[in-house]
Amino acid sequence: MAKKKSRFRQEAGENDLIQRTEQSYNTREASGKYNDYFTDDMPLQKWVCNEAGHILDVIPFIAGPNHPNVAEGKATHNVDVFVHFGIGVTESAYLCPARMGRGKCPICEFQAELKKQKNYDEEYVKSFNAKRRVVYNVCVYDTNKDEDAGVMIWEASHHLSEKNIMAIARNNRTGAFVKWADPDEGKTIEFAREGKGKSTSYVGFKFIDREAPITDEVLDNAIQIDEYLKYLSYDELKEVMGDPGKGEEALEEEENYEEVNERTPRRKKKEEKEEEAPRRGRSIPKNEEKEEEEEEEEAPRRRGRRSPPKEEEENQEEQEEEQETGTRLRRRR
Ligand SMILES: [Zn+2]
Repeated sequence: MAKKKSRFRQEAGENDLIQRTEQSYNTREASGKYNDYFTDDMPLQKWVCNEAGHILDVIPFIAGPNHPNVAEGKATHNVDVFVHFGIGVTESAYLCPARMGRGKCPICEFQAELKKQKNYDEEYVKSFNAKRRVVYNVCVYDTNKDEDAGVMIWEASHHLSEKNIMAIARNNRTGAFVKWADPDEGKTIEFAREGKGKSTSYVGFKFIDREAPITDEVLDNAIQIDEYLKYLSYDELKEVMGDPGKGEEALEEEENYEEVNERTPRRKKKEEKEEEAPRRGRSIPKNEEKEEEEEEEEAPRRRGRRSPPKEEEENQEEQEEEQETGTRLRRRR
């Protein structure tokens, strides 16, 4: 007796699976969730500082009227920003109006309210901190592809980038500063990123002589970064916050930023699991079971993975670093 063909064999189109594979491949890095704090018309590509040695020039620009620290018309090499990450159901990043000198911030206010509660969870409250970031125009010379990209935007942790550059920009003996960002007399910067996630550090910063001055073309391609910063009004921020009292989304913020970009096994497992509804029972493999247990933990405990308070400052900066690549890839949707 001839066996009846399965429904799948009868109905599946010859190329269905390969098409789905292609589709899946092309969207593998898009979470579809993340927005960042640049306006949609920000024209430059974002540079991803991966775990490797890097060589780049920071390209200066003339500050616009919205530069938070530099008078309009003055030359500058960066913009300092304060950012709330992982806000609302879209886990997006928003500039903090309070820390940017633009008035009240509902996220900071919410954090202040949390602190008034008895026995508040410190880790949860901390997750609403505005993080200090730095944005630069850069020309990167790591690969031909980087060079071809021309001027790119580098959004970095202040602690890992700017502090390190400042450390070599000052002559300890004379107290004089190197004109490292000057288009004519400036220097190329070399450093390396070591480690991933919480163990990220930038090491070996040094200035090296440039082969040639920065060209006018490159200078013209650098953007007035402050003109492309997106500020939401108090009410808009309040709206995107939704109901943070529930907490889960905000709590996972940093992990997700890292995961989206670094493609850690943990994230993959989670994605697979989400697609696997309904969940299997007790027959799940050991590691998956562990993952579920973690998910079922109470919100604040998720933060327990952090190191003890003594290393908090460092950890926080490292976590900021994890987020760094987040905004870039988010734009690749
Ligand atoms: Zn704020």
